[in-house]
Amino acid sequence: MNIVTAASLNVASASEPAQDLWQQSLRDAIRSPEELCDILQLPAEYCAAAKRASTQFNLFVPREYLAKIPPGQPEHPLLKQVLPLAEEELTVAGFSRDPVGDREALITSGLLQKYASRALLVVTGVCAVHCRYCFRRYYPYDSVPKGEENWKPVLEKIAEDPTIDEVILSGGDPWMLVDSRLQSLTDQIAQIPHVRRLRIHTRLPVMIPSRVTDTLLRSLTGTRLTPFVVVHINHPLEIDTQVVVALNKLIDSGAVVLNQAVLLRGVNDSVDTLESLCRDLVNLRVTPYYIHQLDRVEGSGHFEVSDTCAMEIISELRSRLPGYAVPRLVRERPGGANKEVLA
Ligand code: SF4
Repeated sequence: MNIVTAASLNVASASEPAQDLWQQSLRDAIRSPEELCDILQLPAEYCAAAKRASTQFNLFVPREYLAKIPPGQPEHPLLKQVLPLAEEELTVAGFSRDPVGDREALITSGLLQKYASRALLVVTGVCAVHCRYCFRRYYPYDSVPKGEENWKPVLEKIAEDPTIDEVILSGGDPWMLVDSRLQSLTDQIAQIPHVRRLRIHTRLPVMIPSRVTDTLLRSLTGTRLTPFVVVHINHPLEIDTQVVVALNKLIDSGAVVLNQAVLLRGVNDSVDTLESLCRDLVNLRVTPYYIHQLDRVEGSGHFEVSDTCAMEIISELRSRLPGYAVPRLVRERPGGANKEVLA
């Protein structure tokens, strides 16, 4: 097992200012199935399927992520997360466009409230990657408020509810917002006296690690709010030295960093893979917090792992790892007062 630790770092300094690197990475990201298949030397049938399936949900992959995938391996666990497949076109009973009840939880445009004491802001519809199993792949992002003025009603709603002590920035990926917008939003949330914690749900530290800049960290830790960052790493091969740098910066800034993964057939549905992931995470001071059963969104049926199999994996993990390194296996239930804990 190849375990990445902080001590194993040896990262060259970039000549470009850090502020610009991540935006350049977004501009350079792969959007074309043909280009992806060409770079990774995939058989023609994969390219044809990717072209068809990507008409429903675009392909988008940063080159940093693609660089972790060796050519000629169409079944590679990292590639499976981003390559549109013919299976996405299948209709599977029980799979829908709003699998977690987002519409039901909508308080006002941009504001969801599912659980007591927490409010979730959908601050943007854009991400640094399009995960093929994304539970929000059909979310009506056009309705997300644009511009600072339009966020005022959302912040007023939170200010009116003294039971809310935690605000979650989600999306899309909230760290796709530019720094000035993030800082302004965070400052405004911090002005609401009963809010104590700020939580960010993001895949950017894994997809484009250069996003974790000093300016970003100021928006995270520069207010009185206690900062939590929930990253999304599904497989140990996603963690390279650049990702380690980003995670270390987050943790050294004082944020609590947790990981949530999604259990995905053919990607990480093996005890050995998840053991390796959990060990790497705790070695990096990241808590393996949740492993989610798949949210049953249309087009993702081929990723589903049975509850029986999922619980067996967690049980075996428990026999191999210290308790703090074993994530809780959960499922989100539309309308539920909390996540269902399966193991
Ligand atoms: S980063 Fe999150 S929100 Fe964005 S596509 Fe992936 S799972 Fe969906």
